[in-house]
Amino acid sequence: MAVISGNDEAAVLHGPRDLRIEQIERATVGPGQVRVDIHGVSLCGSDLHYYADGRNGTNSLTQPTVLGHEGFGVITEVGSGVSSDRLGERVAIEPAIPDGNTPLSLSGHYNVCPSVLCFGSPPNHGLLRGSVVLAAPFAHPLPDSVGDDVAALIEPLAVAAWAVARVGSVLGKRIAITGAGPIGLLVLQTVVALGASTTTITDVAPSRLAVASALGATHTLRSGEDALPEAAFDIAFDCSGHPGAIADAARSLGPAGILALVGVPGRAVADFPIGAVQRWELDIRGCFRYGPSAFVDALALAGSGRVDLAALVTSSYPLSEAAAALEAALTDPTQLKIVIDTTSQGPQ
Ligand SMILES: [Zn+2]
Repeated sequence: MAVISGNDEAAVLHGPRDLRIEQIERATVGPGQVRVDIHGVSLCGSDLHYYADGRNGTNSLTQPTVLGHEGFGVITEVGSGVSSDRLGERVAIEPAIPDGNTPLSLSGHYNVCPSVLCFGSPPNHGLLRGSVVLAAPFAHPLPDSVGDDVAALIEPLAVAAWAVARVGSVLGKRIAITGAGPIGLLVLQTVVALGASTTTITDVAPSRLAVASALGATHTLRSGEDALPEAAFDIAFDCSGHPGAIADAARSLGPAGILALVGVPGRAVADFPIGAVQRWELDIRGCFRYGPSAFVDALALAGSGRVDLAALVTSSYPLSEAAAALEAALTDPTQLKIVIDTTSQGPQ
């Protein structure tokens, strides 16, 4: 197949709060790969950290990098070994791609394989550009029922689906969730869809708790004002990364409970109830991005309407206003998910 060369418009981060719309060279499509023309990208907390501080956790911006890892688009070119039937397919992009031949990949743990390269993790360019090239199996076909306005959110939903897969069945379980940001709200919807008996969710922001109630939370608690009841839950998901919330989530578990760590812990948890872990046989499970089946599960949840992604989308911006979108996400606490519509030319 002929290689389409040229440039793509991209949102390139040069340093803290220095985002520029520039032309970057299009990658060529190799064997087993596809080109996806990007149609939409939603912003994530990690994009905000890179934009505001030039760093996220232990990773820093060392050279100009295209941001974004939550995206969807349409396949416009296929490499050798990929069926031409896939041309024109709408796809959600699984952005963290391993070397599939490592022992960890082959044993089903590709998400924690050090070989993984993730779009939008500096220095790897992200999805806020005209097109990307990736391994064909990581471009997941989107059902028609998932509209363009929400399709980028399949990625954060895959994070939630993987976290829930990590704890096993939630059917009939009493669930606590600390943090009602986008991931907490998606974990909430996923466990409700899968038959949790009760759901209790905490956050500092009343506006987020109101969304949680509308999405089916049984109870909402304002962090700092009300504490989670102790020994009252079967499974707790920390979706905040806040040390105090992680300790509260652990204390909220009854015997044989499971603590799922989904948020990125900001620092050490000083008052973690380690004695309860031993005495009550609590399990602590880390949840990192998405393992095998998480995207397929997310597409099933969204495609069937059991998870409402539109409830999380609070704004949309064109690519030319990506910096304004990032500023809005940083400064406006009522924002949940902002989508950059890369097909839109005009102002908001
Ligand atoms: Zn993300």
